[in-house]
Amino acid sequence: MVNTCAGTASVAKPAPPSGDTDCKKTENARNNEYNKMTNKNGQLTTNQKAVGPGTTMTGAQIKKGRGTKYKSGHSHKVAQQKNPNLAKGTTSKTSNMDCAGQPYNHSSASHSCHAEARVLDDFFKEVGKTSTVKASFVFNTLTKKASGKFQKIPCPNCHKMMCHAINTCKVEISICDNNNKKIDMKDHCNFSSDDERKAKYSALKIKLPLFP
Ligand SMILES: [Zn+2]
Repeated sequence: MVNTCAGTASVAKPAPPSGDTDCKKTENARNNEYNKMTNKNGQLTTNQKAVGPGTTMTGAQIKKGRGTKYKSGHSHKVAQQKNPNLAKGTTSKTSNMDCAGQPYNHSSASHSCHAEARVLDDFFKEVGKTSTVKASFVFNTLTKKASGKFQKIPCPNCHKMMCHAINTCKVEISICDNNNKKIDMKDHCNFSSDDERKAKYSALKIKLPLFP
């Protein structure tokens, strides 16, 4: 079509994708995971073990030194039942993250693992359990709620393990909010109550967590 107002109007271009670059890249990584979990009609698989409240998909960016890697992962809803508490512990399910002599419980068995926890676990397996190597992570997560909708924040269990990584392993962790904007997660740790944590998330327009 001829633009009759050449010089005064420009041809419309598609809007650029929104969000921060890191969040867009991690969203792409997460979409790989989504594709694995959907059937050819684009619907989430009906595998009852896998999909339900608590099903999580995440895309992660890991920067260490000059290197940048992308990983993706999902966790089945049964992870919440089989590994309901990633608390500090010393069980046989101890994670590979042990910077302050306080490893978290985390089983890497496929049906029990949590998505973001798995990414951290794999990282510390690679760099050493007690490593405080300088590294930064960006997580772009979707967690399925009971309503069937997804929220963009880690499940409360991964939240705790991620905060532990920030506080004891001194890594930097950001998450991507509903607008695909990066948020420094350390501002979301160290609350005196869970209500305070929820209020903080809410203020940033990240949907509230499913689990208390
Ligand atoms: Zn989780």
